[in-house]
Amino acid sequence: MARDDTERAEKPVKGPAPLFNRLALIGVGLIGGSIARAARALSLVQTIVATSRSEPTRQRIADLELADEVVDSAAAAVADADLVIVCVPIGACGPVASEIGPHLKPGAIVSDVDSVKGDVIRAMGPHIPPGVHFIPGHPVAGTEHSGPDAGFAELFVNRWCILTPPPNTDRTAVERLSRFWEAFGANVEIMSAEHHDLVLAVTSHVPHLIAYTIVGTAFDLRLVTESEILKYSASGFRDFTRIAASDPTMWRDIFLHNKDAVLEVLGRFNEDLATLTRAVRRGDGETLYNLFAERRAIRRGMVQLDRGKPAPDFQSAETRPRRDPVPRPYASSDDD
Ligand code: NAP
Repeated sequence: MARDDTERAEKPVKGPAPLFNRLALIGVGLIGGSIARAARALSLVQTIVATSRSEPTRQRIADLELADEVVDSAAAAVADADLVIVCVPIGACGPVASEIGPHLKPGAIVSDVDSVKGDVIRAMGPHIPPGVHFIPGHPVAGTEHSGPDAGFAELFVNRWCILTPPPNTDRTAVERLSRFWEAFGANVEIMSAEHHDLVLAVTSHVPHLIAYTIVGTAFDLRLVTESEILKYSASGFRDFTRIAASDPTMWRDIFLHNKDAVLEVLGRFNEDLATLTRAVRRGDGETLYNLFAERRAIRRGMVQLDRGKPAPDFQSAETRPRRDPVPRPYASSDDD
């Protein structure tokens, strides 16, 4: 072998330096499993340690090789971790924080992925010791599937990840966590927890409630058969049925924990629906026309806005400027 070749063979292949040494994932389902796959594929962390509540899920995490270490408890998982991401349902965040609090390393970053931020902060915050950076997060990305098998590394590409650091959070820690999510291909936005909860009530939570309702209404009618609904439904109704297939625990928790914002939006929605209902009952074509024309103008304005600047718009992924996709080799084979 020529001298050059020997030197080349002995040199370790170097990628970008990992952003964190030890990532602890508490809960590995769709979201935790996607983070694990992406972090490993992009070499963003040196070591991944994971845990889950049940033994079958822990076994599955090990079988799928989603982590370097799979441990039995959240307390054991966070020992020496410099990034901890809690990926369990909203209602479980408080108990998890209480368990991990005493075991967190000074200087570590603790985050979560839940769809409601105010209540999660109230539940977790008191258990996070001084010297540990608590930066709640919400990747606005998902599917209707659950569990470690459902995760895939590209889940966050071109999606928003909202961080809601409490006031006075260390800026360097926020930047480090932002870089972690950006490396996944996500766009990071920072806002207050209260604003997050209102935005998500409008763009996600109430639309889900409407989807659950309309699917129930359609199948309860009994005037049309299930096969007729499936046969004749255009994409709008099919989307409603897909949304209604989402995890019931997750959605129960969202409505239990984002009650105020959801009720605020629902109140306004009900008023608008009552106006439309009255117009239909009275055959009031002018009101209907004016309302539909106004809504069309709103939609067109949103599309323009979305094209004009890279501002967060949770409703029009199809018009959002796309980034280059993250390379695929590490994506789950199920996703192909
Ligand atoms: P998932 O696939 O159902 O996984 C949930 C994980 O949490 C599993 O590891 C599960 O453990 C664990 N877990 C469940 N109940 C628990 C409890 N009471 N105490 C401790 N651990 C518990 O859920 P996911 O889709 O990854 O979603 C996790 C959270 O992310 C959601 O609650 C939601 O707020 C947020 N989120 C979800 C989506 C989405 O579309 N799915 C999108 C954005 C954000 P075992 O399997 O061992 O029981």
